[in-house]
Amino acid sequence: MKKIYLDHAATTPVRKEVLEAMRLYFSEKFGNASSLHSFGKDAKEALSKSRKTIAKIINARANEIIFTSGGTESNNLAIKGVAFANRDKGNHIITSKIEHPAILKPCKWLEKQGFKVTYLNVDKYGVVNPKDVEKAITKNTILVSIMHANNEIGTIEPIAEIGKICKKHKILFHTDAVQSFGKLPINVKKMNINLLSASSHKIYGPKGVGMLYVNRKVNIEPILHGGGHEYKLRSGTENVAGIIGFAKAVELATKEMKKEGERQIKLRNKLIKEISKIKDSYLNGHPTFRLPNNINFWFKGVEGESLLLRLDEKGIAASTQSACSSSSLKPSHVLTAIGLSHEQSHGSLRLTLGKENTEQDINHVLEVLPQIINSLRKISPFKW
Ligand SMILES: *Cc1c(COP(=O)(O)O)cnc(C)c1O
Repeated sequence: MKKIYLDHAATTPVRKEVLEAMRLYFSEKFGNASSLHSFGKDAKEALSKSRKTIAKIINARANEIIFTSGGTESNNLAIKGVAFANRDKGNHIITSKIEHPAILKPCKWLEKQGFKVTYLNVDKYGVVNPKDVEKAITKNTILVSIMHANNEIGTIEPIAEIGKICKKHKILFHTDAVQSFGKLPINVKKMNINLLSASSHKIYGPKGVGMLYVNRKVNIEPILHGGGHEYKLRSGTENVAGIIGFAKAVELATKEMKKEGERQIKLRNKLIKEISKIKDSYLNGHPTFRLPNNINFWFKGVEGESLLLRLDEKGIAASTQSACSSSSLKPSHVLTAIGLSHEQSHGSLRLTLGKENTEQDINHVLEVLPQIINSLRKISPFKW
């Protein structure tokens, strides 16, 4: 049975060009970038080249790219680093209810340290209204953090408008771009973004690598202290091979962005159109302002976990964000924020496309999904 992976929002395989680029840096070119001998110099040069590649793609400068261990660390550095460095200016942070836990949890933690956080509501499509951002600003606001695209429902946020508002009020703006980086064009200058998080393993690079773009003028403190690597913002010997792989993945994703995006949009739209024909199925997220690779539906009278297991039996790897999938029984905070009830969110399914998915894969999903839903509804404990 052919296995069909439709969970690219969770992680992606390392592509072979990336693996190839990394290989040398595990073996012959194993040096520590801080060493002064030729081994060190090789590593340092490779790092510097990677930094330039990544900076250029978002219209930043090389010395504004801080390599980290991934999206989670970048978000933590952005939120906590800015909060503590700007404490004398104010203690208020604005974010949204649909952020990734790597934003929400640091915010919750900061509340315990005396900071105040506003968690903005979103509309039924998961869109943050820029006017709500502006209304929430107080004289104590130091940071706004709104994600570029949501990892569960794929909704793309109006970050350029939010950036403009932040600039007008002289407030720092951070965006978690982990899901959009390499998929949507980003220009930090044009969009007035002061800090931006990205991760390598969501775009066919290795796991455990990411970056935080930090505009030169931003006041920020490190959260890891030590040897002063990464412009004193992130101590620790750099993951040279990982960073090389990340840069290669970024380079390839950028080159293929337009064509691959258009290809995925076609497949996505076909899936949305056909799945909508299943009785009592509803699209989660925005119909058009959504990631090229994201499909998210809820099915009345269906339990998401059972749906996943049945799909898995047919070789299809999908995801439910009902969060029973993680350790808690709580419904997804994102689906709750867009107005789904507990039951509705537990009947939701996320499919996220990748570059190796074909039209045939999509046809296979469209063949088996309606049958599975029908059979699950027959045995459903829910009344509907
Ligand atoms: C995956 C993800 C993260 C976390 O990134 P890691 O590199 O896995 O730590 C953060 N934000 C969003 C939106 C994500 O999708």
